[in-house]
Amino acid sequence: MTNEPIIEVEHLARTFHLSRTSSVAALDDVSCTLRAGTCLAVVGESGSGKSTLARVIVGLESADSGSVKIAGGAVSPTTARRELRKRAKLVQMVFQDPQGSLNRSLPVSATIDEMLRAHRPDLDRAGRRARVLELFAEVGLTERHADAKPSALSGGQKQRVAIARALAAEPQIIVLDEAVSALDVSVQAQVLDLLKRLRADHGLSYLFITHDLSVVRDIADDVVVMRSGKIIERGTVGEVLDDPQEPYTQLLIASAPRPGWKPQRSLRAAMLQAEEASA
Ligand code: ADP
Ligand code: MG
Repeated sequence: MTNEPIIEVEHLARTFHLSRTSSVAALDDVSCTLRAGTCLAVVGESGSGKSTLARVIVGLESADSGSVKIAGGAVSPTTARRELRKRAKLVQMVFQDPQGSLNRSLPVSATIDEMLRAHRPDLDRAGRRARVLELFAEVGLTERHADAKPSALSGGQKQRVAIARALAAEPQIIVLDEAVSALDVSVQAQVLDLLKRLRADHGLSYLFITHDLSVVRDIADDVVVMRSGKIIERGTVGEVLDDPQEPYTQLLIASAPRPGWKPQRSLRAAMLQAEEASA
């Protein structure tokens, strides 16, 4: 595939200072490219910098150095309304916990309505209602779901609402940070199928953060492997998952749970052991 880059990340660095004496390099010279119309998976153990990368890309977090270009234009963190609205048209984010964007005391349609108010000033109240129902239908939900409170919906249904909310801004890119990680395997498969269909229907590009390699194989085209703030391996899904070059990637794959097989020890424990053995 020769798709043009839609996100270009170059030499990003971000260090968090935890105290006067301790700090953590959440991003250490990270460069990667998301090609238009494709899905780039970002994998790595907890704490490797995946969410920080996502947050810097969408402008929720600042970088110490480096650059992010989306659709050719450089972006930086901002609170300027106009800038945020413009960015929202380019890139939306879906998180692991859909609760964040839902108000407990309002029907879940309210969160979509809010998005439409911001991005579709051309629509009046009735127009927004019609669009809400259209978006719900697109993600496999009905009017009954739209008018329900969050507490009446399952985790999978709430994540569908979060996806509809992202779509409401009509973005080119969706950044998904562990968006299917909290779902049961069967629900996860359905949401992944939905995401694949939406990608095709809308020509979307995904930056897909997950620690689950079976999800990567299911949805991604390219993959970068992060460890301690660095990208240590990259390539197509076939290259990285079928022929990993780095010992860390090999370990990540070896310790991924398979059906009927339970890991005896945590990845962290396996890593420590491997490091001790090679020291
Ligand atoms: P991941 O998403 O891969 O689990 P994160 O990007 O959340 O990793 O975190 C990377 C590292 O940066 C971790 O060590 C984490 O504790 C640290 N970190 C992330 N955000 C902050 C923050 N706001 N303040 C301090 N440390 C942070
Ligand atoms: Mg994270």
